[in-house]
Amino acid sequence: MNTVGHLINGQFVVEGTRSQDVFNPATGEVSKQVDLASKTTVEQAIAAAQAAYPAWRGTPAIKRARVMFKFKELLEANADKICQMIGEEHGKIGHDAAGELQRGIENVEFACGAPELLKGEHSKNAGPNIDSWSEFQPLGVVAGITPFNFPAMVPLWMYPLAIVCGNCFVLKPSERDPSSTLFIAQLLQEAGLPKGVMSVVNGDKEAVDTLLHDERIQAVSFVGSTPIAEYIYSTATANGKRCQALGGAKNHAIVMPDADMDNTVNQLLGAAFGSSGERCMALSVAVAVGDAAGDALIAKMQQAMTKLKVGVHTDNSNDFGPVITKQHQNKVVGYINSAQEQGAKIVVDGRNPQVEGYENGYFVGGTLIDNVTPEMISYKEEIFGPVLQVVRVDTMQEAMDLIDAHEYGNGTCIFTRDGEAARYFSDNIKVGMVGINVPLPVPVAYHSFGGWKRSLFGSLAAYGPDGVRFYTLRKTVTQRWPSAGVREGAEFSMPTMK
Ligand code: NAD
Repeated sequence: MNTVGHLINGQFVVEGTRSQDVFNPATGEVSKQVDLASKTTVEQAIAAAQAAYPAWRGTPAIKRARVMFKFKELLEANADKICQMIGEEHGKIGHDAAGELQRGIENVEFACGAPELLKGEHSKNAGPNIDSWSEFQPLGVVAGITPFNFPAMVPLWMYPLAIVCGNCFVLKPSERDPSSTLFIAQLLQEAGLPKGVMSVVNGDKEAVDTLLHDERIQAVSFVGSTPIAEYIYSTATANGKRCQALGGAKNHAIVMPDADMDNTVNQLLGAAFGSSGERCMALSVAVAVGDAAGDALIAKMQQAMTKLKVGVHTDNSNDFGPVITKQHQNKVVGYINSAQEQGAKIVVDGRNPQVEGYENGYFVGGTLIDNVTPEMISYKEEIFGPVLQVVRVDTMQEAMDLIDAHEYGNGTCIFTRDGEAARYFSDNIKVGMVGINVPLPVPVAYHSFGGWKRSLFGSLAAYGPDGVRFYTLRKTVTQRWPSAGVREGAEFSMPTMK
């Protein structure tokens, strides 16, 4: 059986000591093993990065960017293969994997702008014969730790930008679907990245803890669940590292009485059930304002959901695939059971989907639950499955209070035709990414991605302008070249321009 190893200093390495099964979630069969890196292996990757750093730091930004231009071409040329790999291990349908990859490529395109992004800020004549400028220097060796749900896109949020900024990078991807991530890193080598600048170590807590404690790692970017994000942030910062740790979510959509209900239903279908709800921006709660909106939403949603197609990734007519593991399937079903036990109404029940030929796959069908209330476990916690819950309230303010009270603040959306209501909502809601009639307001690569509250630990969001700031240290230089013969006396008061 194939073993997915590590890419260290440009070489594929399999340690062979500890490994874990990788499943095909559509069949329930083990397809591969993933090697779990020991502390020693992770330290080799860090050492390779440390050794590569001085030359890479000294490489002009335009030359670093050229590697990214080539990398983009290779990603596009290998898109089908990458999507196939994602489908086999994650289960997402080809069209969805292609969307994920495209979003990742857009981050590479942003990174291609490194010479412009790193130009810095300049002030001539900040004082007599004095010029001042800020430049953005790399940090050194930085690490990324990523989740299973976007094995291509989320790592691409991190390392292209970190690397064009002059850093070296050690990536620890999810051990549940490692193949596409490793293959993509290989493409970056092919694009001409010097050995050691980027290494990939597969592994579990041992690998992560090594990165968090090694003093050569200057910064850590993490994306995953909130309990782990909190652990990563507190450990990394306690060890003196810069850290951004993006966590879980519970994204609400407010459905106003004046919303175009057919459009709203179409948007909600994709945002709630696409990728089996395994997106940190999935809309998992619809808050209907007024019973008329609630009744219309439930009726139209129920009708539309009869057409949902769940199945294997190779059939592009499927809307979404299985969830990632048997354990996760049980967890999602457990949340549906708990909602029912706590008094909610299961309107469309996806607990026993029939997927012909894939009876052992980890499928959960699209599920619609009405009359959900804030005390329910299924409301409080992130389900991360194809489940849309409907909460009914009387006013928009009540809907906003509900969203603000939730521990997560990743994404949210309002469906309305009322510009004033939308403006009030986007201005006041305590959530980091807001959509107005846009259900998945995932920022484009030249903005930045980050939630509020317990969806993000740290002060800088991922990628885009915040990413540049995260992966660089500002240095401000003040320079004076006095004219020949001019000597200035000692100055004991604080220098000013007065
Ligand atoms: P996870 O937290 O289980 O794993 C993420 C990473 O942390 C993996 O690389 C994993 O190996 C590592 N890890 C897991 N347990 C660890 C431990 N005890 N100690 C050290 N490292 C550990 O997350 P997941 O299940 O892979 O991904 C799903 C979660 O990620 C969801 O909560 C989802 O909302 C979140 N997510 C958030 C964003 C965002 O941008 N906010 C994006 C994608 C996914």
